[in-house]
Amino acid sequence: MKSTSYIALAALTGAAFLYGPLPTLAHRMTKPTLKKGEKPRMLLSFDDGPSPRNTPRLLDTLKEYQVPAVFFVLGDKARFYPQLVRRMVSEGHSVGFHAHVHRNQMMQNPISATIDFERGLHTLRKLVGSVRFYRPPHGCFNVVSSLRAKSGGLIPLMWHRHVRDWKKQGVEELLEKLREARRPGAVLLLHDASDDTGGEPGAFDSMHEALKIFLSESLELGYDFVGADAVETEEGQ
Ligand SMILES: [Zn+2]
Repeated sequence: MKSTSYIALAALTGAAFLYGPLPTLAHRMTKPTLKKGEKPRMLLSFDDGPSPRNTPRLLDTLKEYQVPAVFFVLGDKARFYPQLVRRMVSEGHSVGFHAHVHRNQMMQNPISATIDFERGLHTLRKLVGSVRFYRPPHGCFNVVSSLRAKSGGLIPLMWHRHVRDWKKQGVEELLEKLREARRPGAVLLLHDASDDTGGEPGAFDSMHEALKIFLSESLELGYDFVGADAVETEEGQ
């Protein structure tokens, strides 16, 4: 290979790294912090909804235990099930932006990334007014989504632990992973619509059963589950 070809290859590789992996790494390294309270705190977040099958049952459970959560919603689903998104808000949960369609942003070109971002965010804002937090699919950013989130005043919110709940697992197995993840300040990532976004059928049912036990145990242990207003941000709000 001629030296000019090596230079071209190196430039392309560098540009590809700057486009997706670099912003993703930077955001992944920024772990969320929860404001201190009297009791140890945890925050639950649910990605990929709303789902007409799963989300109502999850909302019923959160209401039963009086636990707020943050839902990272897909615009493409929200437009079909707006009543579920409105229900999230009316029951004290926060709605964050996930994407319009569930795709890995590192694989999206700048034009389709821009279109997806604008369509999804517009759909959500029309439904719930202001949207404060952002978490793209798989936690993968590209330059476009990273800059657009910043200019739109969206705060990226990553997580400390996930339990691979998009895969079908036994309730006990999942519960054990949730127990291992339990600690003061933990932001946990779960899913309320895994069936049609790469998850396995039945995965939500196991997660939902395990979650009920986990909530009951954690409250008994003295944990407080907090909402998005407990997240420390640069603005200190
Ligand atoms: Zn997702």
